[in-house]
Amino acid sequence: MNFVVTIDGPSAAGKSTTARALAERLGVRVLDTGAFYRALGLRVLRLGIPMSSVAGIIEASRNATIEVTGSPSRGHVLLDGEDVSEAIRTPEVSEAASRVAAVSEVRRLLVRWQRAMAEAGPLVGEGRDLGTVVFPDADVKIFLDADLETRARRRHDELAARGIAARLDAVREDLARRDERDRTRADSPLRPAEGAAIVDTSGMDMEAQVRAVLDVIRAHPRCPAPAAPVSPGQRGPAGH
Ligand code: C5P
Repeated sequence: MNFVVTIDGPSAAGKSTTARALAERLGVRVLDTGAFYRALGLRVLRLGIPMSSVAGIIEASRNATIEVTGSPSRGHVLLDGEDVSEAIRTPEVSEAASRVAAVSEVRRLLVRWQRAMAEAGPLVGEGRDLGTVVFPDADVKIFLDADLETRARRRHDELAARGIAARLDAVREDLARRDERDRTRADSPLRPAEGAAIVDTSGMDMEAQVRAVLDVIRAHPRCPAPAAPVSPGQRGPAGH
């Protein structure tokens, strides 16, 4: 298997930013698994399928085509050919993603594609179940955490930077609710993988956070030396 690093953890712990920085410094590809659950959540919303309809969610997921284009460290997500990179970052889609992610059939579809990505070359994958389910044999497993207040502030600022106004207490409640759903679902609940290095980033700035994770990865004997850029994104038909 290619060199694989997994980063799991609750929402807004800084996984995406850390994964992108690592990918740039190590010359490997990023696999943002949350983007796939988000794209399917968006599709379900757009089709007007109620979140209580598991059959509807499965059907909408099977018929979706998801593609990642762009640079290896910062992909663009295409849903049925449309660039939805921005559209999948709203609070409404966050909620929908967490609902579709509790459906086992949806997870199975996406896990198959996520594993195929690792055959194409070394990668840093980030999500909730990468070290526990998707890549149990990963070379390095990280569990990135931070206290709820820190995470709520980060997500609030991130939304503000995108021009999305949200109240801090509403953001905090959203995060707590989705984390609880991720932690308690029957299939692939959020938890640190066995042997994962747990990095608590509360009080760390982004550079300190990246360095802390990089130290863990560089200590691994198979860690690749920074390499030439890898080729751009892969096609990932979620329904096949
Ligand atoms: O990481 P992000 O916030 O983009 O993920 C959106 C949602 O997708 C999460 O709240 C979680 O419910 C789900 N997810 C998951 N497993 C993953 C990645 C994301 O269940 N590997």
